Amino acid sequence: SIISVPTTQKVVLIDGIGGLDNIKYVDFPVPKIGGNEILIKNRYVGINFIESYFRKGIYPCELPYVLGREATGSVVAKGDNVTKFEIGDKVAYFSGSTFAQYTKVLDSGVILKLPKEVSDDKMKIVSAALLQGFTALTLSEDAYKVQKGDTILVYAAAGGVGLILLQLLKRKGAHSIAVVSTDEKAALARKNGAEFTVNSSKEDIETAVRKITNGEGVEAAFDSIGRDTFDTTLALLKRKGTFVSYGNASGVVPPLSITRLTPKNIKLVRPQVFGYISDAKDLKHYSDEFFKLIDSGELNILIHKVYSLQDYKEATKELEGRKTVGKLLLEIS
Ligand code: NDP
Repeated sequence: SIISVPTTQKVVLIDGIGGLDNIKYVDFPVPKIGGNEILIKNRYVGINFIESYFRKGIYPCELPYVLGREATGSVVAKGDNVTKFEIGDKVAYFSGSTFAQYTKVLDSGVILKLPKEVSDDKMKIVSAALLQGFTALTLSEDAYKVQKGDTILVYAAAGGVGLILLQLLKRKGAHSIAVVSTDEKAALARKNGAEFTVNSSKEDIETAVRKITNGEGVEAAFDSIGRDTFDTTLALLKRKGTFVSYGNASGVVPPLSITRLTPKNIKLVRPQVFGYISDAKDLKHYSDEFFKLIDSGELNILIHKVYSLQDYKEATKELEGRKTVGKLLLEIS
């Protein structure tokens, strides 16, 4: 079947580094596909913190840079050599340039097929769970393999990654300590499996966690805050503990001397989710787990709000301003 594709589309890009005024909603060419590529018409697109890192210059990019890291949608065109996909296939995928009506992706990319008859609601849930779900799954299995009985420190616990991570930790029989900035977020964290909560606007994190753990500290910490919490997290790890530093919400962790890890024999990892699923075998493993959890409805996936593409600037203002819980989505029509 032939689906007509326009030559121009709407995208959200940045044309400079710095504040929110570098974000533009503009007309942009629809990409031309090569022999091994497919063109996807996007439906729901996940908003992530990483977009702000590109905009702030924390991660490098070439300007103008179309934002976005993931989406769900349907295949509307395919290159001559593509055999794995058909026009009309519904997919969830990881790729750059997804804050757009259309995105081209290599057929060898991280693309998960959804059933052809998948409902719009289900696509929304998959989109809301996708990047955060794979992050929580891989971090808790690969960055640090969480064991039953562990006590684990989780920052940004009411956020997109945080709420899923808390549920996974509970399933694994671990005790979780959730750090959040409001009482509302604390209540939500508890509802999603947190055993203990710390309100960072009212309590000193180190003092509170020491009290909760009877001075012992934690087996591992999932720290996405970066600069502001590095010292606290290091102080709170037990001997032989694992420090999973996976984000920069407050800024990048400054260079440090590795001998700071020595007194307690600490393991420090600084992963990106894509590094855990870039190999076909790993991708199969984690996508099987992902769909098992999503299809069975065992995971509670909280959607903060669905925004239209032109409202991305407002959305990220809320995300970066710590005003959101769960996942933010863009809807493309
Ligand atoms: P969240 O929904 O978790 O939003 C970020 C949260 O971080 C805020 O709600 C806020 O929660 C907390 N926060 C603490 N300090 C700050 C600060 N100074 N500025 C802003 N926010 C702060 O976002 P995501 O679920 O999209 O991502 C969570 C984190 O995980 C991000 O840091 C992201 O970069 C990282 N990440 C890393 C990946 C990887 O592969 N390495 C993959 C996916 C995400 P509170 O107010 O409760 O403190």
